[in-house]
Amino acid sequence: MKNKTLLLFAGLTLLSHTTCSADDVHWSYAGEEGPEKWGRLSSEFIMCSLGRNQSPIDLAEFIEADLKPLEFAYQPGGTEVLHNGHTIQVNYAPGSTITVDGREFELKQFHFHAPSENIIKGKPYPLEGHLVHADSNGNVVVVAVMFTEGASNTALKEAWQQMPNRAGAPQPLSTPADAGNLLPSDRDYYRFNGSLTTPPCSEGVRWLVMKKSITASKDQLAKFTQVMQHPTNRPLQAVNARAVLQ
Ligand SMILES: [Zn+2]
Repeated sequence: MKNKTLLLFAGLTLLSHTTCSADDVHWSYAGEEGPEKWGRLSSEFIMCSLGRNQSPIDLAEFIEADLKPLEFAYQPGGTEVLHNGHTIQVNYAPGSTITVDGREFELKQFHFHAPSENIIKGKPYPLEGHLVHADSNGNVVVVAVMFTEGASNTALKEAWQQMPNRAGAPQPLSTPADAGNLLPSDRDYYRFNGSLTTPPCSEGVRWLVMKKSITASKDQLAKFTQVMQHPTNRPLQAVNARAVLQ
């Protein structure tokens, strides 16, 4: 992740569109490089246009299912904060996992979108956190958590204090962030199959959306939107043939 980020910035500095890999392709949340155009910006982004299991979605119709309790084994491992030009991301040290379908996925990073990307029964939230996990084969699990305005969130404290104003390399956090504080105490969740919500929009992502929201303070919510300067949510995608389990 770190090397990839460094490569990205090297790529941006030496920008030459004819030789770019997908990592170097500019995209944005509006205009000529906005979500409607993502699929045409690079051949590697084709799923953004052609995918039929894309995220985010409006979670509105549910299928009753016997969803197993999620097994989180998190430690305070958020060691770096990064402004990557699209979001604020906290990189996570190895050793924190979630077990889904009897398989272990390691927490790699968490980051945010404002307003929320997924919406629940038509309702958007001011902020959505994505906890991104992967197994050794690169299969991805995203745990999504919605924020409402209320008490300040301790998981955000250090990253928000040290939040870079501009895109750049990761900065070490003075105190490791604890992703456990991004989980509601009630761990009931919705589940569906989806994609990354940013290019390359790869599918096959297991989405687990917490039913209960958590809070961030008015100042915490404001700081993220001020630093990002524009909305950071991909528009809703068609549900198509998918089921949202609850
Ligand atoms: Zn995300």
